[in-house]
Amino acid sequence: MDETIATAVAALNRNWFDAHVAETREEARRWLLDRIPPPAIVGAGDSGTVRQIGLWEVLAQRGNTVLNAFTQELTMDPAHREDMVRTMRQALNSDVFITGVNAVTSDGKLVATDRVGNRLAGMLFGAPRVLVVAGRNKIVPNVEDALARIKEVVAPAHAGWKGRKTPCAATGQCNDCSSRDRICGATLIIEKRPHLTSMSVLLVAEDLGLGWDPAWPAERIESIRRAYQQVTWSFPSHQSAPR
Ligand code: SF4
Repeated sequence: MDETIATAVAALNRNWFDAHVAETREEARRWLLDRIPPPAIVGAGDSGTVRQIGLWEVLAQRGNTVLNAFTQELTMDPAHREDMVRTMRQALNSDVFITGVNAVTSDGKLVATDRVGNRLAGMLFGAPRVLVVAGRNKIVPNVEDALARIKEVVAPAHAGWKGRKTPCAATGQCNDCSSRDRICGATLIIEKRPHLTSMSVLLVAEDLGLGWDPAWPAERIESIRRAYQQVTWSFPSHQSAPR
C-alpha cells in the first residue's frame, strides 16, 4: 500500500474513524455497496468523487432510494430549485449519508468547505451512518495545508468551472471575497469521529475529485481537472449560476 495512504488510514483509525483503503474505484464501489443495506434511504453530498465511482446509478438500479439534489436537472434548471433544496434537506435525515471531502490530513482529520453547508451538515449528526470517500490526491500533511489547498486550488478551479463570478475564478487567487457567488462560506474540520455517528472513510488509491498539489506534474493536474469536468457541469456564459 502507498505509504501516504497507509499513514492517513492509520491516523484516521486512531481518531476513531473506521478507515479503509480501496485500490481502485471499482473496488471502492463494491466496498460502499456492501455497507449500504438494500432498503436504506441514501442521502448525497455533492461529490465529483462519488460520481466518478459510479455509485448513484448502481444504488438506484438496486432499488435504494437515493436523495441526490446534485443532478444536472435539479441544479441547472431554476424551475427545480425548490425540489433541489427540499432534496438537500431530506438527505440529512437519510439512513446513510455519502459524501466526498476536500482534504484528508496525514494526521487523520477531515476538512471540507461548502457554499450551502448541506454537505457539512450531513456529516454531523444527521444520518446515523456516514460514508466519506476520497482519492489519494486529497491527502495533505495537516489542517493548515488543507485550508490552503481549498482556497488556493479547489475553490478557484471549482468556481471557474461552475461559472461563479468570484475573484478566484477570474485570477486563480483568493482575496477573501464578499462576492454573492462566494463558494467557501463555511468550513468543517473533524478532528475525531463525532460521537453517535458511525463514520467510515474510504481512501482510494486513484486520483478522484478536485484537488492537487500545484507542484505535481502538469499532466497529472490536467488529468484530475478533466476527469472532474466529465462528471460535473458548468453554466453557459449567458446564464448565471443560481444563488
Ligand atoms: S473567498 Fe472568494 S475569492 Fe476566496 S476562494 Fe472563496 S470564493 Fe474564491
